[in-house]
Amino acid sequence: MSVKRTKIVATVGPSSESKENLLALARAGVNVFRLNFSHGTHEEHLVRVQRIRELNAEHGLNLAILQDLQGPKIRIGNVEHKDGVLIEAGNELVFTNEELIGTAQRVSTPYKGMYQDVKIGERIMLDDGKLEVKVVRLEGTDVVTEVVYGGMLKAKKGVNLPSTKISMPSITDKDYADLDFGLLHDVDWIALSFVREAKEIEDVKAYIQARGKRSRVIAKLEKPEAILNLDAIIAATDGVMVARGDLGVEMPGEEVPMIQKTIVEKCNIAGKPVIVATQMLETMITDPRPTRAEINDIANSVLDGADAVMLSGETASGKYPVLAVEYMAKTIVNVEENEAKKKFNETKIFFRHHSAVVDQPGANVLNDNVVMSACRLARDTHARAIIGVTRSGYTGYRLAHHRPLAELYVFTPDKTLLTQLSLYWGINTIFYDRADLVTDELIEDIKQVLVDRGNLVLGDVFINTLSMPISQNRKTNAVKLSVVE
Ligand code: PEP
Repeated sequence: MSVKRTKIVATVGPSSESKENLLALARAGVNVFRLNFSHGTHEEHLVRVQRIRELNAEHGLNLAILQDLQGPKIRIGNVEHKDGVLIEAGNELVFTNEELIGTAQRVSTPYKGMYQDVKIGERIMLDDGKLEVKVVRLEGTDVVTEVVYGGMLKAKKGVNLPSTKISMPSITDKDYADLDFGLLHDVDWIALSFVREAKEIEDVKAYIQARGKRSRVIAKLEKPEAILNLDAIIAATDGVMVARGDLGVEMPGEEVPMIQKTIVEKCNIAGKPVIVATQMLETMITDPRPTRAEINDIANSVLDGADAVMLSGETASGKYPVLAVEYMAKTIVNVEENEAKKKFNETKIFFRHHSAVVDQPGANVLNDNVVMSACRLARDTHARAIIGVTRSGYTGYRLAHHRPLAELYVFTPDKTLLTQLSLYWGINTIFYDRADLVTDELIEDIKQVLVDRGNLVLGDVFINTLSMPISQNRKTNAVKLSVVE
């Protein structure tokens, strides 16, 4: 199979958590495993972390771990029957803070401020919007609603209040406990759910830094407030997830496709990795084949410019986890290998990023221009590969940003970067620690590594980005073109 550029994030769950299954998913094309902290205990997640790390060590893989914090997700409590209770249009349904076993008339929720936050007439969505109720009155701390769209309501289902300004903190006590667990085990990425403003990300980044850790933060965009604060959030975060499950409930579903395109475009310009998530192959939770629309959704997300596409229930609890990843990988490669798409990358993306570098010069404008020149040179010489050497990871981010056609290899002595960079579009990381070599020897040695791996063959043009003199550990300041002879 051709080299896949767009990365795959797969959620780990009962269908995928055995070591054997995790390896099968990695071989099928997974780059990042997502641990969903809405479910499972720390002990269960620790076993998953250990298995993924063992696979990296035993098979020379660089699988990253993404910890997804639950955030202020509101859920109802338990209900009477295993299959749920039937709530019917026109009937009343009361939400209470009392702890009780729910019925078709009364369900409990731990959301203490609900009666203060909601207004009469506001809509409340249940179970990802499958059911809908409307607030009709307040009785003490109870919220009385009328069912608009009824159906079976099962235990622990999610509650979305799209029009309500929710007073709950964005990062709950559970999130902080889970975050401490993630930091203790040095997860690569930490995703914050229901982000509303940039300050929440800044606070978590400060929390991580204060503990001397290097996990990077992903803002899950799934609230209308986040879309209003989009530019500030993208500026503050290390990465973004278009969390279409909750976003499509919190906002009108028909707005989600264009919101996705706007978010992806803004992240591409800012050089921040962006994941498109949820329901990409939903059918494959139960069926061995996806719908045409699902294949199209993956293809369109790749065309939009996503760094990664994500699977949730498909790999966590579905019947066909490996098949789902295979379909996703095949679709990605098919789009990426298409001549029209290649042309698009060569022109639109390159020049759009060119203007981003030139128009918004930052502290790294000199290195940014060196990396951009490497991408331009690769385009003009039809180079097979661009090879970065990095200690900070910065060259890796910048190479991914330009979306070159050349394959991207990042050599680093830093084990954190080795896995963390796996989320970025097109980046292949290779552990490398030859501080003893001078420039010419280094280029020759790196070339040999890629030839031995089968990534370069006789006659291939390749381009190195370097910092010279190497001994001074500077930022990237040089580009060298070579041919495999
Ligand atoms: C989503 O809502 O799309 C999402 C990814 O979040 P979660 O699966 O954690 O609800």
